[in-house]
Amino acid sequence: MTLRTKIFLLLSAVLLCSIMSYVWVYARLDQQRLMAGLSQRAEQATFAFKAELDSTELRMLQIATVVAHDPKVQQLFLLGKKAVEMEGGGAGGNLSAQVRQALFDHVQEKQKVLAEEFGFRQLLFHLGPGSLSFLRVHRPEKFGDRLDKVRYTVVTANGEQKSTVGFETGRILSAIRGVIPVYAFDGSAKEKVHVGALDAGTSFASMLSLFHKNRPWLNAAVLLSREHLQTNIWPDFFDQMVKEHPFVKGFRIEGTTSSKIKAFLARNDFSKILTDPGHHLLQYGENLFSFTSFSLRDFLGEKDPAQPDAGVVIIWRDVSTEIAAYHNNVRKLILYGLILFVLIELLMFYGLKLMTKGLQVELEQTRKHDAASENARLVAEESSRLKTEFLGNMSHELRTPMNAIMGLGQLLSDTPLDNRQQNFITKINHSSKKLLNLINEVLLIAEVDTQPAEALISESYSPTQLLNQSIEKFADQAKAKGVNLKVDFSAGVPSLVNGHPAQLEQILSQLLGNAIKFSQGGEVTLSLRRLDQSGDSVVLEYAVSDQGIGIPAEQQQQIFQSFYQVDGSKTRANGGTGLGLTIAQKICRQLGGNITVESALGQGSRFSFQLKYKTFAKDSEGSIAGINEVISAAKTEHDVAQVMGAISEIDQLLQRLDGPLAKMQPKLCQDIGDELKTKQWPDNVSADIEKLTNMIFNYRFSEAREVVVRLKKVIL
Ligand code: ADP
Repeated sequence: MTLRTKIFLLLSAVLLCSIMSYVWVYARLDQQRLMAGLSQRAEQATFAFKAELDSTELRMLQIATVVAHDPKVQQLFLLGKKAVEMEGGGAGGNLSAQVRQALFDHVQEKQKVLAEEFGFRQLLFHLGPGSLSFLRVHRPEKFGDRLDKVRYTVVTANGEQKSTVGFETGRILSAIRGVIPVYAFDGSAKEKVHVGALDAGTSFASMLSLFHKNRPWLNAAVLLSREHLQTNIWPDFFDQMVKEHPFVKGFRIEGTTSSKIKAFLARNDFSKILTDPGHHLLQYGENLFSFTSFSLRDFLGEKDPAQPDAGVVIIWRDVSTEIAAYHNNVRKLILYGLILFVLIELLMFYGLKLMTKGLQVELEQTRKHDAASENARLVAEESSRLKTEFLGNMSHELRTPMNAIMGLGQLLSDTPLDNRQQNFITKINHSSKKLLNLINEVLLIAEVDTQPAEALISESYSPTQLLNQSIEKFADQAKAKGVNLKVDFSAGVPSLVNGHPAQLEQILSQLLGNAIKFSQGGEVTLSLRRLDQSGDSVVLEYAVSDQGIGIPAEQQQQIFQSFYQVDGSKTRANGGTGLGLTIAQKICRQLGGNITVESALGQGSRFSFQLKYKTFAKDSEGSIAGINEVISAAKTEHDVAQVMGAISEIDQLLQRLDGPLAKMQPKLCQDIGDELKTKQWPDNVSADIEKLTNMIFNYRFSEAREVVVRLKKVIL
């Protein structure tokens, strides 16, 4: 499997996971929204049912009120009351029966009209106090029974003489009732007296049909419990009821807007809807229904919380469309997610393809470029080799005849010559010296230019020692010009550094030569300062200052250009080629530095540059200290001459390593190292000789030389 395929598969997996997580979260939120909506609508359905019940109760009360205010009804009812009282109470006798019939005849017509108009089904006359049934218009054959423990709507209306409403189950039927006290003018007593109560009632079935008519999307059923019915209804009526409609799960369907309730009730999982009020979802056939239920309280139950529930009201709604819409939405969401996934996959696939193609092209270009630069490097190396070869030849070719000219000129000047000839030969000698000087400097510049900085082999050396040696070379020249030469080292200058001493010496020689050349008396100071030390590196500043003629400000930059000399007879008179500073600056830049000048005309100049070095690890310093200790011990305990002999031998070997050529010949170093190893050394120095050998093997010649010099100093 390629890397591209791996990346592609990984990204695809991450992408698919992200899209599917998003779909899942969105679907969950949508489901929560849906469920909250369903539960809210179920609650609204409950309120709607209760409102419908309230309005039905009021309607029943209105009907009862209309009938109770008919003067003939009042008179007949009063007569009935008196007849029953006269005939011993209860059902009464003949007179009571006649009056009941008269009342029935009068009310029957009225009831028919009202029943059609207002959808009620029963009208009952109860004599007070309490409740003694006088006439059931819907069942005229049943009368004279006491209902004090059954019809609390009536007992309350008669007792408190105020209207009552509510659901209540009587001896024959359950009904939603409105009950009003009835009064009549008693001619004998000449006053209005309370006769009893009139009760108008309707069934839940009729209320439910109105409820469904106004809200066709809602269905409802009223279930009455076995206990409730058994307590209130006459036993023979109850038995007949059970026969006709057996109880299911302890309930009888009192009214419903849909016959589906029977099938619902038959299900086992419907029990939770009967017992747990609230919102439930139930699958029935193809459809899904949202159910809500609440307990039904009758008139007495509303007043007294200790009474048991009369039954349960169940309201339901077909929510299949909403649920299907939700599922549809989720399906769409998944589909869109997959389409999005495929689109991004395609984009990613082509993007990755393009990207890898681009990378391949880039890689190819880099490869080509690398090959080209490798080629260029080889060409440059070859041309540098040729240049060096050419320079080597040239220097030989130029210097050989020049040496011949100079040598012969010198010889000629020693022969007897007349004054004129002597004058000519002196000029020839002088000019050839100048020419050789110029040739040397031009060749040096070419050499510096051809030698890349990386090719310089670094070695360890003591900077203070190098400065002392440099200044020593100019002692005679300075003396001749009456110049006082000085060296100045700041504190903290390391005793050993790793760098390029030969090149540094060349720079310092140029600067010192100029400083003396352009001075008449005064001081020339070569100084060395440590500027900065951090970690394993240190920055040293080298400076050559004089009190000579100085350089005009406007020419201070030009002096580093080839063949540039400051105008003025003084400079010209001092001779020179105008190449010295060019060479010094080139070498300095090779070493990573840059010569700068500060000067005031007539007061002197200061040339300085900074070089960065890696400091030595402690062990090299330690080895020197170790050798010092050995030598101190040797002075007292061993034959100093023997140690001295050994040391001078090492010194001689090291001297053979002097010069750039030797340093570049590993074979020679190896031979010398081997020679040092095979020789027999006094015991007390053998360990240090081994260290020295290692230094030589590792090309740390200056360090080694330093050790030897110090050894010598200690011994002598
Ligand atoms: P030259 O061979 O002439 O000394 P250099 O390149 O060394 O060539 O110097 C270039 C010019 O810079 C010199 O000719 C001189 O005019 C000026 N110069 C260099 N060093 C000094 C100095 N220390 N004091 C005054 N002038 C200097």
